[in-house]
Amino acid sequence: MAGRIPQSFINDLLARVDIVDVIDERVPLKKAGKDYQARCPFHDEKTPSFSVSPDKQFYYCFGCQASGTALTFLLEHDRLDFVEAVELLARSVGIHQPNSAVTVPDEPPVVITASVLLAAVTKLHSIANLGTNCCRSHRKLPWIIGGCVCGGVGGIVLK
Ligand SMILES: [Zn+2]
Repeated sequence: MAGRIPQSFINDLLARVDIVDVIDERVPLKKAGKDYQARCPFHDEKTPSFSVSPDKQFYYCFGCQASGTALTFLLEHDRLDFVEAVELLARSVGIHQPNSAVTVPDEPPVVITASVLLAAVTKLHSIANLGTNCCRSHRKLPWIIGGCVCGGVGGIVLK
């Protein structure tokens, strides 16, 4: 269900997120100079060797060499998958993820009979990556939104 998330979106997201907030919610951090420290969540230790830099938006453990960004931290610590971690960060700063998933409308399809709409609908299909591989025989007309009249949706012909 997940699609590709543009690197530019991730960069933008990481620029808005504060790694200190993200990690502090999970591992209480203590200010130490201009960085923050904690006992490393990735290995067992008695003295803190886990350091978070708000300047670099990066964490690093001198004990086990764990390192990364806020996103890496969620992947490693919360064991989220990549898309979940991106969604969680995006929600935390109130931005919406771009079309990472293609959804098929739940509502009954609207029948389009006017040929003037064909171009628009064909475009819709190609944008949504639907219908490009299905119903080759029905490519001309008539289309319905979200699939073909024969019931084909997104490359799968529904029986
Ligand atoms: Zn460590």
